[in-house]
Amino acid sequence: MMHVLPTVHSTTYCQILGDGEDVEGRTRVEGEEDHILDGCRCARCGSQDLKLMNSWVDRWFWGPRETWRLKVRLARCQKCKARERILPFDALPGKQVGVDVVFTCIEEAQNRPGATFVQLVEDLIEKGIEVSRQLLASWIAGVRARGDDLFQLLRHRAIQAPKYCAVTRRLVSFSRFRETARESGVLRSNACPKDGLSLVLETIRAFINVESLVRFGAEKFRQAVLLFRCPHPG
Ligand SMILES: [Zn+2]
Repeated sequence: MMHVLPTVHSTTYCQILGDGEDVEGRTRVEGEEDHILDGCRCARCGSQDLKLMNSWVDRWFWGPRETWRLKVRLARCQKCKARERILPFDALPGKQVGVDVVFTCIEEAQNRPGATFVQLVEDLIEKGIEVSRQLLASWIAGVRARGDDLFQLLRHRAIQAPKYCAVTRRLVSFSRFRETARESGVLRSNACPKDGLSLVLETIRAFINVESLVRFGAEKFRQAVLLFRCPHPG
């Protein structure tokens, strides 16, 4: 399971949440840092009584300039004892790639409608983003489906939520996210683009950039609101 914190970016993660090194040597007051989890809810039982653990797990993080191993800290629900991962707001649960990389590539494709995928990918590789045509195509299809709310996903992975699963385990729908952005005055236009991809990109523009959008999503829902599911090839 997963919590996504609006105060923690991938580049400041280790500074704020540690990396598991030197835990023994540090003086830590029990419960001192738990306030960072305020507003988070256990996906399994819905409790807000969560505590940071002194345990970390490794995952890859593919950022705009490099790919590195991010040590992700765990939290434990005090009620049902479920363990949950804590992610920075620019990460996507269940995916190595961060939102900056995905949306830099998709914006590039949108801004150059006449370019072929081969050209786009060559130019992106030249800029240091090692994307493939297949990957770019699957990101575009996945983000379009997310904008259309074609699938309801589990909030901790880009897989479809089964019908019986609890509300707390589900990723917020994109339309509900937009509704919240509208209530907060960020989204002003009621115009609704006809396809999901344009809808997501229009929403990002209303927030100025993708980072502000995902931080807002983490503030309001403690979720990675841009998480999307890639279609299976073929
Ligand atoms: Zn719980």
